[in-house]
Amino acid sequence: MTLPDPSPEAMLASVFGFHAFRPGQEEIVRAVLAGRNTLAIMPTGGGKSLCFQLPALCLPGLTVVISPLIALMRDQVRSLREAGVEAGALTSGNTEEETEAVFAAIDAGRLKLLYIAPERLAGSGTLALLRRAKTGLIAVDEAHCVSQWGHDFRPDYLRIGDLRRALDVPLAAFTATADEETRAEIVTRLFDGIPPATFLRGFDRPNISLAFEPKDQPRRQILDYVAARRGQSGIVYCASRAKTEQLAAALIEAGHPACHYHGGMEAEDRRRVETRFQREDGLIVVATVAFGMGIDKPDIRWVAHADLPKSIESYYQEIGRAGRDGAPAETLTLYGADDVRFRRQQIDEGLAPPERKAADHGRLNALLGLAEATGCRRQRLLAYFGETSGPCGNCDLCETPPDLFDGTEAVRKALSAALRTEESYGAGHLIEVLLGQTNDRITARGHDRLPTFGVGKDLSRTEWQAVFRQMQGHDLIRPDAARHGALVMTDRARPILRGEERITLRRDLVRKAKVRHVPKA
Ligand code: ADP
Ligand code: ZN
Repeated sequence: MTLPDPSPEAMLASVFGFHAFRPGQEEIVRAVLAGRNTLAIMPTGGGKSLCFQLPALCLPGLTVVISPLIALMRDQVRSLREAGVEAGALTSGNTEEETEAVFAAIDAGRLKLLYIAPERLAGSGTLALLRRAKTGLIAVDEAHCVSQWGHDFRPDYLRIGDLRRALDVPLAAFTATADEETRAEIVTRLFDGIPPATFLRGFDRPNISLAFEPKDQPRRQILDYVAARRGQSGIVYCASRAKTEQLAAALIEAGHPACHYHGGMEAEDRRRVETRFQREDGLIVVATVAFGMGIDKPDIRWVAHADLPKSIESYYQEIGRAGRDGAPAETLTLYGADDVRFRRQQIDEGLAPPERKAADHGRLNALLGLAEATGCRRQRLLAYFGETSGPCGNCDLCETPPDLFDGTEAVRKALSAALRTEESYGAGHLIEVLLGQTNDRITARGHDRLPTFGVGKDLSRTEWQAVFRQMQGHDLIRPDAARHGALVMTDRARPILRGEERITLRRDLVRKAKVRHVPKA
C-alpha cells in the first residue's frame, strides 16, 4: 500500500475518516509510535482499536494483534480492508483460502496488521511466522484476560510475555478493566514487571474550565480574553488560514507576543513556531487545527476558539491541549450563525459518502447542543462520550446558571414565519416579519399580510436572534446552501410545530464582553 501522507493526523482522516482523536487516543498513539511499551485503560467504546491500528500503519513492518474475540477480529479486519489497509486474521474460523491469502501477503511483505487468536501462540510455527513477517509491534486487546483472578482469564494469554521477549519488540496492551490488581498483574505478566507508559483516564479533565459565548464582536472578544490572561501561554484556534494571520497581527499590535501557524506555511517556519512555543513562556499561537499532535507542552494555560470547531470530537481534542500539567486551565469557544452555516456547507460540499455526511452533521449537532446547553456543559460533554457525572462547578453555566424560558411558542412562531414564506429567507427577514416591520421587501412580497406578521412583538430583535441561533443549535432549522442559505425546517422540528413536544431555551441576550478594552498608551 502506498500512503499519501504518513503523518498520523492525516491518516486519521484519510484512512479512518475521523476528524479528530477521541479523548486519550492522541497520547497513546504518540507513545506507541515512540516505541514505548504502553498500557492503556480506556472505557469501552472509547476507541482503543485506533490506538494500535493507526501506529501499525505508520510503523515499518507488521503489527500483530492478539485478541480473544474472533467475531471482533473479523469485523476489524473487514473494515480495515474496506479502508484499503492490508490486514488479515489467523483464527480457527478461517477458511483455507483465507489462511493462504494471509501467508501470501506476509511473504510479499505487504501485510500491516495480523490478528491472531491466543491459541495460536501455542503452535510451533507462530514465532517463526511472526519473525519472517518482520513484526515490529505487539498489540494486546482485552489485556485483562491475562489475569488469573479475573473472570475472563485465558491461559494462552500467559504466552504473550514469552512472545514479547522472543521478538524483542514493544508491546501495547489495552483494556477497559481498570482495577489496580488487574493492572499490576498485566504489568507482571506482559512486561516482566517493568512499568510501561500507562494511560488511565476517563474522559474528564476536571482542571479545564469550559465556556462558550455567542459571537458579538468576535475580534474584541478574543482580544479581551487574551488581555485578561497576559503572560500565559495559550492557543487561539481559527477556521481559516487567513484569519490566523490577521488575528495574530491584531494581538501583536495590542502588545502580545503572538505568532500564526497553519498548514500552508513552510515546514521550517512551522517547526520554528513549535519550538518557540515549547521554549518561550507566555507565547500565543493563533492557528488552524494543523497545530496539533506536534505540540507537547504541559503548561498551556488556555485555549480559545475564535470560530466553532467542526465537531464535538475536534472541540474536545483541541481544548484538551490545555492544562496537561493538571493545573487550572481555561477555555472559551465563540460561535455564531455564520459558523454553523460554514460548517454545514463544509460537510455538504465534501466528498464523503452520504452516511458519513449524516454522521458529520450529527457530530456538529452535538457540539451545537453543547454551545446552546441549558445546564452543566461538562456533564453534557461527558455524556456524549458515555460517562455519567454530576454538575461540574467549573463551567460558565455552573457558575452563572442561564435564564431559561419555555421557548415552544417562540419556536412555533418562527417556524411558521419560515414556512409561510416558503422557506426562502434568512433569519434577518423572518425576524422583521415576526416583529411586524414594514420595508420595501416585505410589502413587495406581501409579507405584511401574512398571519404571522407582527406576532412576535413580545420579544426584541436580539431575543429573536438568540431564538433563531438556538433553533439552529437544536437542529430545528438549517441553512440550505442550494437556496442561498435560506432557513429550512428539519424533521426534528415537526413534533414542536404539531404541539407534541415543548422546548426550553436560554434567554441570553448577547452578553457584552466582560473585560473592557484598555486603550494603548
Ligand atoms: P473500544 O474497543 O475502545 O470499545 P472501538 O475501538 O471499537 O472501541 O471504537 C468505538 C467506536 O468509536 C467505533 O465505532 C469507532 O469507529 C469510533 N471511533 C474511534 N476513534 C474515533 C475517533 N477518533 N473519532 C470518531 N470515532 C471514533
Ligand atoms: Zn458545569
